[in-house]
Amino acid sequence: MARQVKRAFKYRFYPTDEQAAELSRTFGCVRLVYNKALEERTRAWYGQRRRISYVQSSAALTEWKKTEELAFLAEVSSVPLQQALRHLQTAFANFFAERAKYPRFKSKKRSRASAEYTRSAFTWRDGRLTLAKTTGPLDIRWSRPLPEGAEPTTVTVSCDSAGRWFVSILVQDIVTPAPATEAAVGLDVGITCLVTLSTGEKITNPRHERRDRERLARAQRDLARKAEGSANRGRARRRVARIHARITDRRRDFLHKLSTRLVHENQVVVIEDLNVAGMVKNHSLARAISDAAWRDLRTMLEYKAAWYGRELVVIDRWFPSTKTCSNCWTVTEQLPLNVRVWTCGGCGARHDRDVNAAKNVLAAGLAVSACGAGVRPQRESSRTGRSATKQETQRVTAGIPRL
Ligand SMILES: [Zn+2]
Repeated sequence: MARQVKRAFKYRFYPTDEQAAELSRTFGCVRLVYNKALEERTRAWYGQRRRISYVQSSAALTEWKKTEELAFLAEVSSVPLQQALRHLQTAFANFFAERAKYPRFKSKKRSRASAEYTRSAFTWRDGRLTLAKTTGPLDIRWSRPLPEGAEPTTVTVSCDSAGRWFVSILVQDIVTPAPATEAAVGLDVGITCLVTLSTGEKITNPRHERRDRERLARAQRDLARKAEGSANRGRARRRVARIHARITDRRRDFLHKLSTRLVHENQVVVIEDLNVAGMVKNHSLARAISDAAWRDLRTMLEYKAAWYGRELVVIDRWFPSTKTCSNCWTVTEQLPLNVRVWTCGGCGARHDRDVNAAKNVLAAGLAVSACGAGVRPQRESSRTGRSATKQETQRVTAGIPRL
């Protein structure tokens, strides 16, 4: 049974000088409107415990446009400004539901500049995309085709800190669920090896990554030595941004292929929830990149599992997947990080550290999945049938991810 899904396609494009100027102006207005509305909401919330709605923010925007000092807001397309207020509304809804931290101001340096256009603010004709208030269609590099007959519903234009322009096109697409299979897989995440599968397969980082990472570290050291405000510093910063962007791009491409493959091959995919508070923090660059990759992989697995009719089970990090023997469930007390291969004291089985962990992740996930956890919210705890007798303190949570 085919189903309709929303799907985003991201491309690079090369704006004319005129388009670049208009879009940069729009980015500035989006940031200003977002920050000003956030300021008002903050005053209302911390001053009077009063919540401001989207409708009120939108009415305020109309008033701002009438003032002399903010009249320029009326010169750019109004849709991206409205969308900024909608995003702020979502950020506050998440904050009030305790799903997110208090919204932050958009800074020119740190936040990615972007503007979102809904259907009324762009035209799409014969594969050519033209945004409101800009002249001529965008010069888009179609690195992969949009689905046949796709109608864009939302278009987001952005410019990253390396000065590259992107357009992300959201379309309605139709996906067909993958044929049912008995296969299931557990994933263990690491730094040296990105992911280890319960099948024993080790998936290493993308090919160029080590070299790119060394380049990044060198560029960052360079940047740190440059004088504040100098032209050299600006150049060094753009260089860091460019290398960073390259790592991210290659990584995303790699993760897309991996997640598609895992979802196609398996009915159930089990992963660990690494976002549990209290996890040991390690601030190395490798760690930061590996954490980011894991978050991206998880997001991709979540929506692809939903698209293709698969189940993604997320288990609690505190399940001692590493120290438990996947063969006899004996827990080993001491297992230092440098021990990559170990022998179980209970049954004598010899384990590769990561493969053993992945096998345990799979077993824990399947136990939860089998007792119908697929319909439970993610935060609800349950015990796995197998581990409950042996390890009284274990907690396993699972369920359908939020989409
Ligand atoms: Zn054992």
